[in-house]
Amino acid sequence: MPRYVGIALPVRMQQLFTYCVPDTLGVGQTVLIGCRVLAPFAKRMLTGIVIEEYESRAIAENHARRHHGSSLPSNATLRDVVEILDSTPMFNQTMLAFGAWIAEYYACSLGDTLRAMLPQGMSPESVVRVRTLREITHDHIEEMKKRAPRRAELLHILRDHVGTLTIGYLERLLNSDNINAQIEALEADGWIERERGMTEHVKPKMRKAIMIPPALVNDEEEFHLILQTVEKASSKQARLLSAIYLHYQHSEDPLFISDICKQTNTTPAIVAALISKGYAEEFSALQHRTAHRDLATLAQRDEAHVALTLEQRHAVEKIISALDTHQNKTFLLHGVTGSGKTLVYMRAIEHARAQGKTTLLLVPEISLTPQLIDRFRLVFGESVALLHSKVSAGERYDAWQSSARGEARIVIGARSAIFVPLPNLGLIIVDEEHEPSYKQDSPDPRYHARDCAIVRGRMEKAVVVLGSATPSLESMYNAHAGKYHLLTIEHRADGATLPQLRVVDILAERKKRAMRGSFSTTLLQAIADRVQKKEGVILYQNRRGFASRIECHECGTIPQCPNCSVALTYHKFSMNLRCHYCGYSRKAEHHCTSCGSPDIHEVGAGTQRIEEELHEHLATMNISAVIERMDLDTTTKKGSHKQLLTNFAERKTDILIGTQMVAKGLDFSHVTLVGVVYADMSLFVPDFRAGERTFQLLTQVAGRAGRSGTHSGEVIIQTAHPTHQSMVAVLTGSYETMYNDELQDRRALLYPPFARFVVIEFSGKEDQLVHLHANYFAGALPKSNQFFQRLGPAYPTIVRLRNAYRRLVILKSSKEHDPRGVELRAALHKAFTEYYGKHRTSSIHITVNIDAQGVI
Ligand code: ADP
Ligand code: ZN
Ligand code: ZN
Repeated sequence: MPRYVGIALPVRMQQLFTYCVPDTLGVGQTVLIGCRVLAPFAKRMLTGIVIEEYESRAIAENHARRHHGSSLPSNATLRDVVEILDSTPMFNQTMLAFGAWIAEYYACSLGDTLRAMLPQGMSPESVVRVRTLREITHDHIEEMKKRAPRRAELLHILRDHVGTLTIGYLERLLNSDNINAQIEALEADGWIERERGMTEHVKPKMRKAIMIPPALVNDEEEFHLILQTVEKASSKQARLLSAIYLHYQHSEDPLFISDICKQTNTTPAIVAALISKGYAEEFSALQHRTAHRDLATLAQRDEAHVALTLEQRHAVEKIISALDTHQNKTFLLHGVTGSGKTLVYMRAIEHARAQGKTTLLLVPEISLTPQLIDRFRLVFGESVALLHSKVSAGERYDAWQSSARGEARIVIGARSAIFVPLPNLGLIIVDEEHEPSYKQDSPDPRYHARDCAIVRGRMEKAVVVLGSATPSLESMYNAHAGKYHLLTIEHRADGATLPQLRVVDILAERKKRAMRGSFSTTLLQAIADRVQKKEGVILYQNRRGFASRIECHECGTIPQCPNCSVALTYHKFSMNLRCHYCGYSRKAEHHCTSCGSPDIHEVGAGTQRIEEELHEHLATMNISAVIERMDLDTTTKKGSHKQLLTNFAERKTDILIGTQMVAKGLDFSHVTLVGVVYADMSLFVPDFRAGERTFQLLTQVAGRAGRSGTHSGEVIIQTAHPTHQSMVAVLTGSYETMYNDELQDRRALLYPPFARFVVIEFSGKEDQLVHLHANYFAGALPKSNQFFQRLGPAYPTIVRLRNAYRRLVILKSSKEHDPRGVELRAALHKAFTEYYGKHRTSSIHITVNIDAQGVI
């Protein structure tokens, strides 16, 4: 019997699509819901997820008519699914419900959402490939011919081919339009495997590994006897054998032959000799690409047995007792920098693990420092799986798989890790919950991982812990409103005190002629002092590249990106002007492109410039210091980030200069000075969160200093606006001041946490048309009323992005009057229906960003 299903496809339309699963595919598969299927859509082949199954053709057709509206003629036949890609569902009911919530709340399609929930590479666009797994001989084919001639034909073709083949190609060769049954049978017998559209490096790799036959060795003594025997014949074989033995003493991971050869400086021939004598056995194993890196661990000590402070203990106890109730509860852990929040997480995780539960730990991309990972690895070992953009797609795929199977008890990952299915999820921790990188701005779904964590926690009955030294206004507001349980740690752990903050007024210093370029003499002297004492220095400058832009001193022209109407960034190393939005780049000119004057200068100092300046200053002061820079430009190569930190930890580097990367998560006890070169950088940007962000950034970076009880820390902040409200809050170290000041402004202007900030963007090739359509759409939205404020259409800061003109319409939807967002969704739905009904065109692209972080 054919079966009938409703599928979510990765297209903009938000409805389900109805398909038939023909007899040849659907029999034997018990559960279809949650499985990926390959389905023809228009002229393409798409991968969708089965969401519903219908009892009969009539019901299916009813659904189809409802979903497709009048576009389905009454006599139309339902199209067939081409292939079912999973034998067991990729999504369970909870994850499907979670996806449905995201699609609804963020106003995007379920298909797009579910696709984003799978790791990269598991969502093939259309191609399914076949790869041969073992050698096929003439005899094999002859043997197969007797029972399955079609399969024998297939084996024949596969034997003569190197690499992978698409199923479509095989079907053409065999002159058949469906060879799925044969392929499945061959796969079941282990001849081949299907690659579900994944590129080869994403596929888990099988490699040759080696072990000592379990029957051979029962105890250490026996092993020594064997080793003596081997030693007499060959010392190299003995060395290899003992290395294998040692490996399995402390690890259950497969030992790969190529790795052990490298380590022991032996050859495959020696391995073969050992195997032929029966002392070792070869086998194939999945390579876990998350295997250890070569560099030393950055964790300063094993934190598994550190005694907690009173405040930490209180926090841990609250979380643990929530875990014991097996109910959903959300905590906001507000602990000053260096208060030992990480330790609180560790103890909570330990408790969850003892209960047999799994933990998801979200960390913002930028603070996903190797150090934090090393700290968890040291305490929890191999039960930690990592998912973030610094590991390769292959590693991420492995980690995802082992998490889904429940092998990894603790998953640490950036934003998208919130989508990892984990059996028996008990605890979700969102570290640095205030970080903007938790919000995905493009493409759909434009979700906020922290907010999704709250929802997922509710669905899974898990305990959620949001941690920060500088909580977002939204979370603190929720805590005050009683939605979250607030846990506070006011003191640093380990007897350390918060660092002393000193402000340097740049304008005043300049008048006193006490500025040397970007540095005040105060800061320079403090740096020199620490370098001589061999204490660590961190300098923070919130900008990358050598200089942000080039300006003509004659006519004032700043070179602009021809596509994006933003200033181009000057990269001195490559002598390039580069657009950080669209990637446009060109060689820097020696003369002004507008007036021809050679009088052109760099304005605004990036990290590279700061580094060069500092070198010069220290040289004139006769001080030699090793300076390293840590920003996106110096850390893109895999491992380089960790290398920089290792050098700093081992004190090979005296001064670490960097962007936000040095502001967060670093815990080095020898750092006693943090210098903020220009604190105002983030203060004057067109963003309603500018004040909050500046406070957060500066507080975080200041928190890198004086993290041990033995060395107290100092922070020097250079600013031209020492009396600005956010700066005062930073200098007095008062979160409450910032919170109260900001909250008042937000309430007055209806911004979060009092509203949902929704940005609807229109873009297209023709400026006038974009403007017109933005107006049409705005007209279809309700005028400002108790539920909303409607703004625009407005010109964004960047009018032209990637060759398209843009306009924005902004909705601020009152949380007081529309707490669940029902009115907002209804209004958006109505506007889209009306707009598409009258003005639909493919020349205009529209995106909706719910809870947008800001406007660019
Ligand atoms: P946070 O994440 O709150 O900034 P961390 O968890 O990184 O703080 O802790 C800061 C430092 O203090 C770390 O080196 C940590 O090992 C140490 N630490 C934390 N708790 C304790 C404790 N109870 N006793 C001693 N040292 C501690
Ligand atoms: Zn000029
Ligand atoms: Zn550009």
